[in-house]
Amino acid sequence: MALIVHKYGGTSMGSTERIRNVARRVAKWHRAGHQLVVVPSAMSGETNRLLGLAKELAPAQTDDACERELDMLAATGEQVSSALLAMALQAEGLSAVSYAGWQVPIKTNSAYTKARIESIDDQRLRADLAAGKVVIVTGFQGVDGNGHITTLGRGGSDTSAVAVAAALKASECLIYTDVDGVYTTDPRVVAQARRLERVSFEEMLEMASMGSKVLQIRSVEFAGKYRVPLRVLSSFTPWDIDLNTEASSGTLITFEENETMEQAVVSGIAFNRDEAKISVLGVPDRPGIAYQILGAVAQAHIEVDVIIQNISKEGKTDFSFTVHRNDFQKTLHLLKTQVLPALGAADVVGDARICKVSIVGIGMRSHVGVASRMFKCLSEEGINIQMISTSEIKTSVVIDEKYMELAVRSLHREFDLDQTVDTISG
Ligand code: ASP
Ligand code: MG
Repeated sequence: MALIVHKYGGTSMGSTERIRNVARRVAKWHRAGHQLVVVPSAMSGETNRLLGLAKELAPAQTDDACERELDMLAATGEQVSSALLAMALQAEGLSAVSYAGWQVPIKTNSAYTKARIESIDDQRLRADLAAGKVVIVTGFQGVDGNGHITTLGRGGSDTSAVAVAAALKASECLIYTDVDGVYTTDPRVVAQARRLERVSFEEMLEMASMGSKVLQIRSVEFAGKYRVPLRVLSSFTPWDIDLNTEASSGTLITFEENETMEQAVVSGIAFNRDEAKISVLGVPDRPGIAYQILGAVAQAHIEVDVIIQNISKEGKTDFSFTVHRNDFQKTLHLLKTQVLPALGAADVVGDARICKVSIVGIGMRSHVGVASRMFKCLSEEGINIQMISTSEIKTSVVIDEKYMELAVRSLHREFDLDQTVDTISG
């Protein structure tokens, strides 16, 4: 008997029929002798619907008072799906109880709409489990020190589930979703993309931070910190498939990096179209310049990703970095009006039509020449690299966005990630 946390995404909870299937699946696990805690998302579309209503009434407000009410509002979506699931489980003959975040309580800080979990009281949950109940805990939400309801940011139910699993020291946290695992890259871009049976936690962290939308990045950070074994699997398999088959399906996110792991140098290709590039040209080459530029950007709460500074020529240099595309105009304006005059730089230019493509793999630690193989592959396709950044297990390039799909496909092939024809035909 094990204590297991299941998380079901919005599409899995999308109708009463689907909720009934979730209940049947959970009941199957419970009858096999496991203790179950289930963390559901709101029914698909519900969070968007609620936030849309808010927009109709208060389009321009983004102050704290308004954000408090946004959280009051958005948190209801998960309360609905949790209560419905409890009823569906009871209809299956199980004893089940649902709790909103504040009832557990799941304590968070007060950063409305993007709160962070600080602690989870496991007493109530443990007592119910000991009494043989299936416990349902709303995803996406908590309560701050003053009793105000908070939410954890879009996609936050993943983080709720992992945090609950960590608090209860669950043996595994299963994330049931509408895809059947983590892929080498987005199958919509590369038809030959393969599902990974295992991926290391560090690789998953890189992939989640670079636009793989399967898991909220914070949930992966949490899993890493508390070493919660995570599995991403499909909720669209028939609910009555064999439990052991189900338990070993999908992708396991693992902390073991031993010989049994797939020995690929590169495990996945990530890409992201959400960034824009900004260059400050003709910057005087003296101490404090990077700080003057990026300090101002940071003060405006704008996150910076790839950064490069060139060597100087006649005491002047160019300085480039990327920001989220939503922050592009704001950053340009800030630099032009505040930083440029003080700095004595020549100009600020920007380009929003870029994308970032990355190869990720723990194999890069032990293999040399992986980055150059990437550059060779891109050059053979005639793709110009505008910026490069590397970490121990990742190399990213910034290129013109019109070559994104070509780059991803070529790299997927170059690093032997394409599914073989054999596997495709089954
Ligand atoms: N319902 C929330 C959202 O749509 C949280 C989640 O689904 O993870 O973002
Ligand atoms: Mg999600």
